[in-house]
Amino acid sequence: MRAPMTIRGHGEHLSFGVRPSGDGSLEGRRGCIEVVCGSMFSGKTEELIRRIKRARLARQRVLLFKPRIDNRYDDVKVVSHEGLKAEATAVASSAELLSFVDVATAQVVGIDESQFFDDGILDVAESLANAGIRVILAGLDQDYRGRPFGPMPALMSIAEYVTKLHAVCNRCGAEACRSQRLIGTEGQLFVGGAADYEPRCRRCFVPGVVDG
Ligand SMILES: [Zn+2]
Repeated sequence: MRAPMTIRGHGEHLSFGVRPSGDGSLEGRRGCIEVVCGSMFSGKTEELIRRIKRARLARQRVLLFKPRIDNRYDDVKVVSHEGLKAEATAVASSAELLSFVDVATAQVVGIDESQFFDDGILDVAESLANAGIRVILAGLDQDYRGRPFGPMPALMSIAEYVTKLHAVCNRCGAEACRSQRLIGTEGQLFVGGAADYEPRCRRCFVPGVVDG
């Protein structure tokens, strides 16, 4: 009989408590890329905020960003569907994001709604991680058609740690990995709120159409 598979952790970088404690010196700093992905209502933003808060508790220097396209709730905060909040800087592009990061002092960079960034976010994440920064990217891994969303698949490839979260299917209660669009708006970039999408499992999901 084969040995059971090793159960691994949930993908949060283990540097918490391992990295030399927050003195910010480049020596000994070890960067990495973490991706937190899943459908809408899977708790991606809560998980990002949780990791950010833990880093701040450890007195690490943390920067949090979101794309400017997403102004659903608040222009300068990252806000989860559950109402958790953290101060964030809204940026129009990956290049603008990079311009806000002082690599000599930053220790953790969090990015919400990463699926909306241009492909330059790949090089930005790599260069920040190579400079010793822990980069945490949260985002939708699939669009409303159930297709890979923007730079997310590539980010998952280059990441050290990937956490895929699930919501609960609104139809049958199974684990949901897809976001069903409920109103008729064209375009992948459409940003909706709770009323515009619902989580669905593979079986209940109807790709690319409005299925209220
Ligand atoms: Zn279902």
